[in-house]
Amino acid sequence: ALGAMQDWDLTVSHLIDHAAREHTRREIVTHWADGSETRTDWAGIRRDALKMTQALRAAGIGKGDRIATLAMNHSRHLVTWYGAVGVGGILHTINPRLFDDQLEYIANHAEDRVLLYDAAFQGVVDKMKSKWTTIEHYICFDSGEHSPAFEDWIGPYDGDTNWAEVDERDPCMLCYTSGTTGHPKGVLYEHRSTMLHAISGLQPALFDFQASSVMLPVVPMFHAASWGLPWAGAAAGIKFVYSAVNDPKVLCDLMAREGVTHSAGVPTVWLAMFQHMDATGETLPTLKQAIIGGSAAPRFMIERLMKAGVRVAHAWGMTETSPIGTTGAEPANWDELSFDEQVSVKAKQGVPPFGVELRCVDLDDMTTVLPRDGETSGALQIRGPWVIKRYFKAEEDAVTPDGWFDTGDVGILYPDGTLQLTDRTKDVIKSGGEWISSVELENEAVAHPAVAEAAAIGMPHPKWDERPVLFVVKKGGAELSADEVLEFLSGRIAKWWMPDAVEFVDEIPHTATGKISKKDLRAQFADYVLA
Ligand code: ADP
Repeated sequence: ALGAMQDWDLTVSHLIDHAAREHTRREIVTHWADGSETRTDWAGIRRDALKMTQALRAAGIGKGDRIATLAMNHSRHLVTWYGAVGVGGILHTINPRLFDDQLEYIANHAEDRVLLYDAAFQGVVDKMKSKWTTIEHYICFDSGEHSPAFEDWIGPYDGDTNWAEVDERDPCMLCYTSGTTGHPKGVLYEHRSTMLHAISGLQPALFDFQASSVMLPVVPMFHAASWGLPWAGAAAGIKFVYSAVNDPKVLCDLMAREGVTHSAGVPTVWLAMFQHMDATGETLPTLKQAIIGGSAAPRFMIERLMKAGVRVAHAWGMTETSPIGTTGAEPANWDELSFDEQVSVKAKQGVPPFGVELRCVDLDDMTTVLPRDGETSGALQIRGPWVIKRYFKAEEDAVTPDGWFDTGDVGILYPDGTLQLTDRTKDVIKSGGEWISSVELENEAVAHPAVAEAAAIGMPHPKWDERPVLFVVKKGGAELSADEVLEFLSGRIAKWWMPDAVEFVDEIPHTATGKISKKDLRAQFADYVLA
């Protein structure tokens, strides 16, 4: 050979080894559901994860076995991520907010052998236990009332062991999408994809972690691999502050007390924090970076954070993409832009980091690649080393013949690579052969001070194929008429986008991850006839 470099597989346990070695005493703080708080550090997480591998091996659990969790964010959950993967197993994070039939389906489909859960979900466990056919071991993270307690379970072991030998192409984690149609689908991450995603997450445009970073992730560990934060956070050796409760009061208080610099969550989380801050006058004095994704970050949210000196990383992604697809990086001319222009940049979904590629194809033929002209919208497709190829146990690949995954999202690409998401393929409204973005209609409608939430769906129309109808939830106590909504929209959207009707409803149905469920809304108004 002319020479060679060393073998160092891209396996996930390297992350925790690095964190424990180089950032040994960097803290992991947890605020528990009962209000108590505990502190450990990266060395403690690693030691407990190794103890957990011993407990798992003693129970006959090993390579390829699925180890599930039903839990909020806390240090024992973090231990479980590394312990499950460290024994050569596959970590399966279950979303406790799924509906019963989904909970039944995914645990059985995954063939989970172990379930670690929070006492807060004892009710879910009791209800589902007889339906879950493969789970042999139940461990409770908090107390040992109904199942062995986690600390008692790993307590007898010393952690003096090694991580299982695995190949970097072996699977390490399984996440199910909530499934807007049909059964939830499992996405199986590999060690290699997880490591590449974690390393990529360290770039400034994404998480921007420094040794001094203190992160409170509000995004749950059961949602889309918690955006990869437990992995990337170990690579950077940051301090984590976890809260097992999602109460804005607790979150704001923790952020101030622990000097939190970074946080990540879906827009509704930030909204709840703003409301709490408005009511109490509290601020987030140490926050520097807010990562927002999962749904589009509204403009006012970006503005408010930026005015408070917080950098906004508006990210787009999905469970199928590990999940990072794009994030709102500052373009080269950032400093020359006005504040409003900067907000406009951040209101789009951003650019892909090195490693993933995007393209948009024609919505009608689903093959013609569209120009990146900042105008033409199409079906968004993605490829890269941390993008799905085939769903768990599926018979066929989930990619096009030329290797791209179709996201089900509709977007516009700009010449500089920026992505602007305009809709979901299933929700975009086709009127007279042209496309109307339901999301844009909703975004404009919620800018009205009396509108709490809005959803636009296409209703069948004899002449135009479909016409938009806007469903609106009024803010508590607000007076608002359909004409007022339409008047508010005029000038903000193209004339032919104007909804044919505005219907007021008490509530709009949501999915288990808190997104508007157009499927349910459509079903609810299946008999609707346009006047
Ligand atoms: P679930 O449906 O289970 O919540 P995901 O979390 O994987 O599944 O959801 C991914 C979808 O969320 C994307 O396909 C996209 O439609 C939407 N989404 C994610 N981030 C954004 C964003 N920044 N702006 C708009 N939509 C987003």
